[in-house]
Amino acid sequence: DYTPDTETVHVPTSSEKQLGSSPAELSSGVLYHQLRREPLNIVGGKGSYLVTSTGLEILDATCGAAVSCLGHSDERVHEAIMDQLKKIPYCYSLYFTNSAAEDLSRLLVDSTGGKMSRAFIVSSGTEAVEAAVKMSIQYFTELAVPQPQRVKIISRQSSYHGNTLGSLAVGHHASRRRIYESLLSKNISHVPQCYPYRGMKPQETTEEYVARLAQELEDEFQRVGPNTVAAFVAETMPGATLGCVPPLPGYLKALKAVCERHGALFILDEVMSGMGRTGTLHAWEQEDVVPDLQTIAKGLGAGYAPIAGLLINKHVVDTLSKGTGAFVHSQTYQGHPVACAAAYRVQQIIQDDNLLPNVREMGAYLGELLHEHLDNHPHVGDIRGRGLFWAMEFVQDKQTKASYPPSKALSWTLHTTGLKPKHAISLMPGSGGADGVNGDHIILAPPYNTTRDEIRLMVDRTVRVIQEVLGD
Ligand code: PMP
Repeated sequence: DYTPDTETVHVPTSSEKQLGSSPAELSSGVLYHQLRREPLNIVGGKGSYLVTSTGLEILDATCGAAVSCLGHSDERVHEAIMDQLKKIPYCYSLYFTNSAAEDLSRLLVDSTGGKMSRAFIVSSGTEAVEAAVKMSIQYFTELAVPQPQRVKIISRQSSYHGNTLGSLAVGHHASRRRIYESLLSKNISHVPQCYPYRGMKPQETTEEYVARLAQELEDEFQRVGPNTVAAFVAETMPGATLGCVPPLPGYLKALKAVCERHGALFILDEVMSGMGRTGTLHAWEQEDVVPDLQTIAKGLGAGYAPIAGLLINKHVVDTLSKGTGAFVHSQTYQGHPVACAAAYRVQQIIQDDNLLPNVREMGAYLGELLHEHLDNHPHVGDIRGRGLFWAMEFVQDKQTKASYPPSKALSWTLHTTGLKPKHAISLMPGSGGADGVNGDHIILAPPYNTTRDEIRLMVDRTVRVIQEVLGD
């Protein structure tokens, strides 16, 4: 079993211990998503481990929400942040640029082989999605022959693209949308996901299924009026809501062809699946497609700073440059120097430490172990993933694939069970949000520098958690 390195693990101070021993005190000021929950207080971290105020070391098997891809304590990033803080912590991007943002943008553009020619840097995945959608609308007003009637967006069912009103409307998480439905744009519609486990018909081949999904997108274009659609938005590999479903070969290419046929932009949301998580820096590199607009976030800054970005294809940049010459959108913390310096260093480390081959190798090992230990579990319906991005979907009955009722909150129960000291593992819970398409899943998304020993421990603990909640 893992023995923590007590020399370097942050040891809670007495005041932190005190805080942790009084949960009421913890939640007295901070508003959490779940008001009645008393979250553990994290006071330190080392590598793949989080340390709570009571000294519990939790194996962070999910990097939070697929964020902390270098683990929790890389001093090279700490130094880059301090250096930038001393140079200049902030300048307003409406008036100035800064070297940290310029360096990061150049690195990102180069990482696409120049296919994307500019980066728009913001602070969260949600903001990146909103920027992508707005840019697609603006693009059509600035073409040599403008098409201002293109105001509709098509995305996919059971998708997640963020939580503010615009991005919530793009996504399709039923329970997150429900009470805000009146404020969500009616110009956004949703087509089925590529989801072989539940979506593919018994006698259908992969090619037939992909062709059917492309036809469903074509039908949706026809239904809403092909020349009214500005963009189609998809997660390259869905995470939060559907749970790590790798796109079938040719699927994204077939969807892009539909968009091209109708002159709409093709937006890939790689907030979760991008920046190395699936084994290549950009998940689209494995799909033989290049997006017109691409969002990135979590692995960009690895959690050392809140940062996200929109990468913009050259032809879109050229259109806006020839048009008004400005993106009608700006935010105060855009291109934040400290966040950019942190992300730049993170990206250098991913390259210098040659981490992408490790993502592929450890990812294959993780998948192998999950299949070995859980394929025969009566309630594990599906195991799927790519790179270090894996999910297990749970069912009441493997034959019928019946999901558990949302009232059981199964994935949250698995998460909270994992946090018990005897398991000490953080698992990412997820579900389709009661829209009936998919059931509960948990995600494993360890850091890119994880080891075989850690992967074994992670699977061992995950299996024990599942056994405690659902039996053997
Ligand atoms: N898009 C995708 C695909 C995501 O997974 C997420 C976050 N899970 C978002 C957008 C929103 O990102 P954020 O939480 O950083 O706003």
